[in-house]
Amino acid sequence: MTITSRSIRDAFVSRFGGQPKLFCAPGRVNIIGGHTDYNGGFVLPTTTGLHTWVAIAPRADRTLRVFSRIFDSLEEIDLDRIEKCDDAQWYQYVKGVASILEGAGHTLRGADIVIDGDIPLGGGLSSSASLETALAFALLDCAAIEIERGELAQLCQRVETEFVGIRCGIMDQYVISRCAKDHAMMLDCRSLEFQLVPMPADARLLVVDTGVSHRLPTGEYNSRRNECEEAVARLAGKIPQLGALRDLGLDQLEENRNLLDDRLYRRCRHIVSEIQRVEDACSALRRGDARRLGELVTASHASLRDDYEISCSELDALVEIMNACPEVYGSRLVGGGFGGCAVCLVHAPHLGRVMDKVQTEYAAQLGRRPWAHAVTPSDPVGPAPAIEPFVAQ
Ligand code: ADP
Ligand code: MG
Repeated sequence: MTITSRSIRDAFVSRFGGQPKLFCAPGRVNIIGGHTDYNGGFVLPTTTGLHTWVAIAPRADRTLRVFSRIFDSLEEIDLDRIEKCDDAQWYQYVKGVASILEGAGHTLRGADIVIDGDIPLGGGLSSSASLETALAFALLDCAAIEIERGELAQLCQRVETEFVGIRCGIMDQYVISRCAKDHAMMLDCRSLEFQLVPMPADARLLVVDTGVSHRLPTGEYNSRRNECEEAVARLAGKIPQLGALRDLGLDQLEENRNLLDDRLYRRCRHIVSEIQRVEDACSALRRGDARRLGELVTASHASLRDDYEISCSELDALVEIMNACPEVYGSRLVGGGFGGCAVCLVHAPHLGRVMDKVQTEYAAQLGRRPWAHAVTPSDPVGPAPAIEPFVAQ
């Protein structure tokens, strides 16, 4: 069911009573730049038009009473005694946001909260960063605290790295905090400089969920990150100015290949070539050259599959099905990998037909019709749209 400001307000009123304030944060899809963010490189994400919603009203004490509509579950959190639990439950993110904000010196108020969302969970469209950012924005507003959006993104990233235990980069929280409607964001994950680039009018992004998740994403994600760090440590002996794989050129990688085993070499080759592809993709986007952008996106998938080794048979099948449509410019897996969604860039007039064809063909090959969504890049985290007055017919 579609979530609206009215539906989240009504859910709050029936559970807690009173009048809440409403906030929402988009999910994101990264057009290109897989795993480059934590290597200090470039990424080119945009928002999806799917959101996490938060309804909030202050309480007189220091308790958060939080209801998740998705999990149909209520949690109470004492702001003076936030305990980390080992299980990766949804409220771990809520505790993490509260704990990191308080730890950064932002004294929060107790609140009643309802959370809902339409971003698939664990699908690579960053429902977790969307939840963190929506909730942090709402909790800060409730306590009348204003912070700069870049700081908001960095605090929310720390929820994942310090509380949930995923050593993610800054991309997700940053684009969710600072994107703009109908634009993509070329972000330098080292300096945090960014440029907003309009999406071409004649090309649309389509995300499709494989519906599978093969491995524990935390373990594989963190192991890739460790491999990148190990490669930098080995190469730094020969290339002293190397701080991150961002600083490495393809020629330098080839010259120093003997310092790495084959696995680390291929991890590096993916990151170094992918950072270059993001720069090329940004130029293509500026020119409105959807064909070139599509080629780069498809090359990104091949590199993630063969060198970074984070694809799986369902993602490869889905990307092949997408690329077999003549109206598709290119496609790739998104997010951590091993399942979740793939994205393709489609010639806009044929979007509906491509969506149906991809879903039908995937169902024929893999036995289930996948969830699909046509991306409409939206506003960043902030107050939810005003509720339309009810007009009697
Ligand atoms: P991704 O960020 O790719 O969607 P993650 O595994 O990083 O996948 O995060 C998914 C988790 O985030 C969910 O399992 C849940 O715990 C939490 N989450 C995200 N959105 C919501 C929501 N609207 N309501 C409750 N929990 C949510
Ligand atoms: Mg996540």
